[in-house]
Formats: sequence, C-alpha cells, structure tokens
Amino acid sequence: MPAGTQDYYSTLGVERSANADEIKKAFRRKARELHPDVNDAPDAEDRFKEVNEAYDVLSDPDKRDQYDRYGSVGRNGGGGGGGYGYADMGDLFGGGAGINMEDLFSAFFGGVGGRGGGRGVRLEGRDMAMQIVITLAEAASGVEKEIVLDRLATCDVCGGGGSTEDSKTVTCPDCNGTGQRVTQHKTFLGTMQTVAPCERCGASGHIIENPCEECQGSGRVPDREHVKVNIPAGIRDGQQIRVAGMGEAGIRGAAAGNLLVSVRIAEDEYLHREGDDLHCRATVPVTQAALGATIHVNGVLEEHNVNVPAGTQHGDTLRVKGGGMPRLNGSGRGDLIVHVAITVPKKLSNRQRELLEELATEFGEDVAEYKTPLHKLRDWLHG
Ligand SMILES: [Zn+2]
Ligand SMILES: [Zn+2]
Repeated sequence: MPAGTQDYYSTLGVERSANADEIKKAFRRKARELHPDVNDAPDAEDRFKEVNEAYDVLSDPDKRDQYDRYGSVGRNGGGGGGGYGYADMGDLFGGGAGINMEDLFSAFFGGVGGRGGGRGVRLEGRDMAMQIVITLAEAASGVEKEIVLDRLATCDVCGGGGSTEDSKTVTCPDCNGTGQRVTQHKTFLGTMQTVAPCERCGASGHIIENPCEECQGSGRVPDREHVKVNIPAGIRDGQQIRVAGMGEAGIRGAAAGNLLVSVRIAEDEYLHREGDDLHCRATVPVTQAALGATIHVNGVLEEHNVNVPAGTQHGDTLRVKGGGMPRLNGSGRGDLIVHVAITVPKKLSNRQRELLEELATEFGEDVAEYKTPLHKLRDWLHG
C-alpha cells in the first residue's frame, strides 16, 4: 500500500483523540499480533508494515499534526538516518511456499539449533542488519548517526523474565518436562519417528502459568528505539559496525543479538577515494602552469594551498601529504593527489593577444593572422 492511502487511526484501532500512551499501547498490541515472527498469515508482513507506518506518524507529534491537517505526511519527514529494521524478518517470508512448523517454531523461539541453551533450542535473540549511507566528509571526520530501529526488545513490565508475581513455573504438559516431542508419521516404508524440540515450552521442559501479560511470557515485546551508531573516522565503504546487544532481545532474559550496521559511503562529486588516498582534479591556467603558482584545492576536511611548480604539464599530479582520509588504525592520513588539467583562455582582450603574439614571436612560432571585427567588415566590403 503506498504511503498516505491508509487511515492511520483505524490501522492502529484507536480514536482520533487517542493520546500518546493509548497510541503506544495500540501499536504494541497490533505489532505483537502481526509481527512477522509470530503471525504466519500471508498478509501479516504487509499489515505489520502498515502498523509501523501508522505508528511512525501518529507517535510523532509533528507528523501527526501534519497528518491530521492534510491527511498525508512526507515519506521522509523527520529523517533520522536508517529506516526500519526489517532486514532480519524477510527470510521468514522469502520461501513463498508457506511456513512450516519448524519455521513457526523458530520464529517463536528465535531459531532452532546453532548457539544456544542446550537441547538444540536457541533462546538468544537474533542479530539484525541494516544499512546507512554517509558522505565522504562524514567518513573522514567520523560521525554519530541515529537509527530508528523496530525490534523485539526486553519487556519492561517483567524485565525480560516473562513472569510476574502471579506467575508460577510448572512442568510442560506437552512434553512432560523432557523438552522434546516425539511424532510418528506413517509412510509407505512404515512408521517413522521424529523427535523435535517441544514448541510449547521452547524445549525448556517447563512453562510459566499466568505469564506476564505484556509479553505473554516471552520476555520481549515489539518496540521502536532510536539507536546511536558511532562511525569512526576513516571507515571504508561497505564496512560493518556491530552494536552489541541491539539486535532482538533473547527469550525470557537470554542474551540479545547484535545490530549489524553496514556503512555505505555516497560517491563524492569532486573527490575519488583509492584506499586512504583521495584524488581530485584541478584546473590551472596555462600561464600559471608555465610560471608556477599556488592554487587552492578543496580537500575532504579542509582547503589546501598547493604549489604548482613552473613548467607543470597537463596530467601531472601534485601530492598533498596527509590530505587524504584518516587511517582507521589512527596512524595519520593518506594523501591528496591533485591531477592538473591545464586550461587555455577562450577569449582574449587586444592587450592579451598582443602579449601572446609577442611571446609566440619570441618562441619563433607561426600564429594565425588576427583580424578585428573592423578588419573583417573591410574585407567583406572590398573583397
Ligand atoms: Zn514442553
Ligand atoms: Zn513481560
């Protein structure tokens, strides 16, 4: 659904007069119901995105005000760098052929196998990935960027444990505390038995009765957070920054995943990067190139006065030591390499022409005979 065609209030199921708290509660309720990790309906992801979009607008007083007045909001109003953290959710929907029980199970419990707390079940939160784009100057100076991140965060009602005062831990009735379910399939070869982690208890062998209502015992709730990411000076295009613990929260207090931010550097109009060196082009008039001069060149962080030696040729390079990108390891900076393009004047005053003609004579060069407009008129009248 394109931006602005939905009614954000009805998407979240709140009155137009709803206050910020009611909107936040409604968002959490809807997000919990529709989060791609827990809802396998084919349209769940789209509806989840709609809910996110609605919350994005209604939770921001300025955007909400704009929406109330004009019925729509600029897509990128408010900015903030990142966009949403959907990256890790897509894989659930990528297969096309519907979601099998294992997917559903891993969606609830954060993935089967791999690292994790015994019995083949992973309770740790998954890593999340996103990308941000910065300028070359930001890459040179280092920068702090804020990312808007939708993730499963630690439930603040139960502190992530999944239980409250009214809860108690009991043996899982589905697996009798073994943490495993044995299922039998009839096939043409006979009866086959498969053993899988118990879905009900996440293979822990116990469940929580009367779990925390906010998170339904999982210890985590969908939430939106603003995360600051520190990008060090000298970062290369495509490098990844790991923000520890800012991926999905773990199940019932298990360790959170990490947020992996890929940094892309936008192409600069004037400066081209090769490793830690920068290259640029500078135009130098032929007279300055012949006589020698000092020119000003805009580097990535500062302006440089660059000495052009007498006799500089077109295509020569001039090196500014330390004018390049900072090295990530902190050991100084690369160089700025200036590629000289020599320019020839396109128009000459009479005086300038005289001087150049004199110079040409001095060099013993043949030059075109010069005719002023008056000469040309005379030629045309008499010729
Ligand atoms: Zn069980
Ligand atoms: Zn909770």
